[in-house]
Amino acid sequence: MATLGLLPTNGLGGLSVIVHDRLYIGGELVAPAGTGTIDVINPFTEQVAGRVPEATNADVDLAVAAARSAFDTTDWPTRPIEERIEILSRASALISSRMDELTGLITTEMGSPSGWGIFGQVLSATMILDAYTGLAGSYALEETRAGMFGPVVVRKEPLGVVAAVIPWNVPLFEAVMKVAPAVIAGCTVVLKPAPETPLDAYVFGEIMAEAGLPKGVLSILPAGREVGEYLVTHPQVDKVTFTGSTAAGMKIGAACGALLRPVTLELGGKSAAIILDDADVATVVPQLLDAGLMNNGQACVAQTRILASRARYDEVLDAVTEAVAAQVVGDPSDPTTQIGPLVAERQRERVLGLIAKGRDEGARITTGGGRPASQGTGWFVEPTVFGDVDNKMTIAQEEIFGPVLSVIPFQDEADAIAIANDSPYGLSGSVWSADGTHAAEVARKIRTGTINVNHFAMAFGAPFGGYKNSGLGRELGPEGVDAFMEKKSISLDPGTA
Ligand code: NAD
Repeated sequence: MATLGLLPTNGLGGLSVIVHDRLYIGGELVAPAGTGTIDVINPFTEQVAGRVPEATNADVDLAVAAARSAFDTTDWPTRPIEERIEILSRASALISSRMDELTGLITTEMGSPSGWGIFGQVLSATMILDAYTGLAGSYALEETRAGMFGPVVVRKEPLGVVAAVIPWNVPLFEAVMKVAPAVIAGCTVVLKPAPETPLDAYVFGEIMAEAGLPKGVLSILPAGREVGEYLVTHPQVDKVTFTGSTAAGMKIGAACGALLRPVTLELGGKSAAIILDDADVATVVPQLLDAGLMNNGQACVAQTRILASRARYDEVLDAVTEAVAAQVVGDPSDPTTQIGPLVAERQRERVLGLIAKGRDEGARITTGGGRPASQGTGWFVEPTVFGDVDNKMTIAQEEIFGPVLSVIPFQDEADAIAIANDSPYGLSGSVWSADGTHAAEVARKIRTGTINVNHFAMAFGAPFGGYKNSGLGRELGPEGVDAFMEKKSISLDPGTA
C-alpha cells in the first residue's frame, strides 16, 4: 500500500519530488480526466516538493457518482454504527504508525514547524478519531418520545453524499474533522484538499482504505476554488461541510442557501485572551505564545488579541515582547524551530501588508515587524508584537493568519468583555485569572464558540464552531455527527404501539 499512486521520484529540477499521477476516487487510484497538475512548493526552500494531478469537474462527476452509488445501492448507510467506528479506530492506529512521515509531509507542504506539527498536525488528528470512536455505545440513532396518540420514534438518518472542502493550514486534522463524523453517520464523502496540501491527503486516502473503508465511500480531489465551487453546488450532493476563510464561506453559504442544501461552515477567527488583574503573567505568557503563534500563527483558533488591564499593561506587553523575541525562527523540519515560513509568498505579502497597516494606524511594534534577516529563502515573517493597539484598528479586527500578536489595554473587567466581543468573529478565546471560578463567569459572557479558562487546548469531545463570521454549525462531539444526519419522526400506530 505504501506506493499507492506514487510514481518513483523523478528528480524534477534535480530535487527529490513526490509525484502522484492518479486520483483517489471511490477508494481506488484512477487516471485523472484532465492533464493539469498542481505543484506543491516547499515554503522553506521555495522549491517544488511534489506534483499531483489537478482534479477537474469531470473527476468531481465521477467521484460524486461513486459516492452516490455507495450511499444509494450498498449497505454502507445502514451498517451497524459500531462497524463504522471500528474503521475509524483502525485509521487512528494507522495514522499513529505513520506519524513521522505525515508530520514531515505536512511540514514540507506548508511549513508547519515539525516539533509542533507532530502534535498539532498529526497526533491531534488521531485524538479527533479517538474522541469520535469514544461515542461508541452512547450515540443513539433512535429514541422514543411521547406523541399525541402514542409513541413517536425520533430517528437519525445519514444525509447522504457530502462535499467536504478543507484549507491548507491543518490539512490532515481537517480531513479527519470532516470524514470521521460523516463515516459514523453513514454518509459518503468527496473531499477537496487545498491545492497547497494534497500530499498528506494521499496518505490519508491510503490509510482509510487500509482501515477498511468500503469502495465509493471516500474520494479525494486536489483542486482549486473553481472545482470546489463545482463540487459544493453539484446536484447529486446532499450536504456541504467547509472549513476556510470567511469570504469563501459566505459564498459557499449563499450557494447552499439557493439550493436549500445543509451546510456547515468553519471560518476565520480573531480571538481574545483576557488576562485578568490577578493572573500570574509569568505562567500565562508562555501559554499565550502557544495559543497565538502555533503553526506560525496560521490557526483559526489563534488568540491574537491579548487583553491586559491598564494597571498591568506594561508588564504584560514587556513579557509578551520578550517571549516572542526569543522564538526560534528557522527550518521547520528542525524540531527545535518554533516559527517557520508562511504557506506562500502571497500570504507573507498579506501579513507584511497588515503589519504596515498597524504601524500606519498608530500601533507600536515592540518586536519583529519585517522579514527575518537570518533567513535567505523561505516565506518568513518575523514573530511580531504590537503594543498600544486600539481594538478598532485593522490589526485588531482582521484575521492576519501570521505570527502577529496585538496587546490591547482595557480599563476594567466590563471593558475587557466589551473589547473581546467587539469583533466580527467569535471562534475561540481564553480567560486567565488566579480565580478559575470567576474566570469561568467572564468566559460565559464572551460571544464565542469555544473558550478556555487558564489553559489552551481544544476539547475534541465537545462542540467546536463559531459565532458570527466564524461560521455556522458545529463539529466534534455528538453534535459533529448530528451535522451529517437528517432527523425523522415516525409516529407509531396508536392501536399497536
Ligand atoms: P480559503 O477559503 O481560501 O480556502 C479553503 C478551501 O476552500 C481551499 O480548499 C480552497 O480551494 C477552497 N475554496 C475557496 N473558495 C471556494 C469556493 N468559493 N467554493 C468552494 N471551495 C472554495 O482559505 P485558506 O486560505 O485555504 O485557509 C485559511 C482560512 O481558513 C482562514 O481564514 C482560517 O481561519 C480558516 N480556517 C478555519 C478553521 C475553523 O475550523 N474555523 C480551521 C482552519 C482554517
